[in-house]
Order: sequence, then structure tokens, then C-alpha cells
Amino acid sequence: MNRLLQRPLNSNNIVVCEIFFAYLIFQTHNIEKTHFQFEFEAYEKIEKLPEQDQKLLKEAIQTAKKAYAPYSLFNVGAAVLLENNQIVTGNNQENAAYPSGLCAERVALFYANANFPDQKVTSIAIVALKNDELIDHVVTPCGSCRQAMLETEIRFNSPIRIIMGGKNGFWVVPKAQYMLPLSFTGDSL
Ligand SMILES: [Zn+2]
Repeated sequence: MNRLLQRPLNSNNIVVCEIFFAYLIFQTHNIEKTHFQFEFEAYEKIEKLPEQDQKLLKEAIQTAKKAYAPYSLFNVGAAVLLENNQIVTGNNQENAAYPSGLCAERVALFYANANFPDQKVTSIAIVALKNDELIDHVVTPCGSCRQAMLETEIRFNSPIRIIMGGKNGFWVVPKAQYMLPLSFTGDSL
């Protein structure tokens, strides 16, 4: 079982996200429980974020406007910041055969990894637009994109900050690992 709780912690825009996993270990009548939690930053306005994050979000917004999303009309943009300060962008590419399309995050991330294989990915900003405007809630990446971000994080042994935005606020999660607990990795093979 798991459950997700979010609550304001203090005035520094820190939110604690607690995900509890209960492992049931049946050893006669013993039940063992453990849990996982992480902190991320929450901001009401884009101006409150560090300048570099603002820049990355703005790149993501511009890129989202160029998405190919004729079916969902849900334009997603992602901007990846590399260690050399280069920014690589991507947007969702849909297809009439739906699974043939790809999310913005992976378009950007795979382009970065393909063309700059020696450059660590340090951050990724993600936004979604409807009718050319940011959607209300903070957009979060799908499971497959989280898996791809985690792989990149492990590949470079360096955390990737995930910056997500919406009209009502912005969240910054310090590493992809936090967004995919109990993940499947190369160590599992
Ligand atoms: Zn995705």
C-alpha cells in the first residue's frame, strides 16, 4: 500500500512529500513496515525561483508552443540544462498510432544524451500548455519519463533537478530518484 501526503512545512517554501510503503513480511505473525520521504521546493511565482531555473522554464514554455500535439491539444515542453550550460529542448511528438509518439521530456533528454554524451544533465524544466497558456496545476512527468531521467542520473552519477511548472505554482525536486522510489535499474538485471 502507499499513500501520498503533501503539507506546507514552513515559510521557506519547503514541502515534505511523504510516501509510505508498507512491506508486509510474513514471518509467523510479524509485520515489518518502513517508509520513504523527501523534501522539495514549492514556489507560488516564477520570479521566486533561482534565475537559472526561471530561464529554463521560459525555454520550456517557448518549446511547448512548437509541440506536435494535434490529438491531445496538450502541448508539453521540456528544457534540459547540461553541465556546460548548454540548453537542449524538446516537446511532445504525437502520432495517429498513439504509442508511436513520445513525451517532451524524453525527446529533450534523448537528444541531449545522443548529441552530448559526455555532458552531465543537471536540470530539466517541464511545463504544459493548453491554448498557448500554462495549465493551472503543476505538470509532473509520466512514469516512463521518470525512468528515463533516473537512467540518465545513474549514467552520470549526478542528480538531476526536476523543475515543474503550472499557473498555480512551481515545484523543484532535487533528484529523479525521489520521483521513482523502488525503481528498476541496471542493478536489478
Ligand atoms: Zn512522459
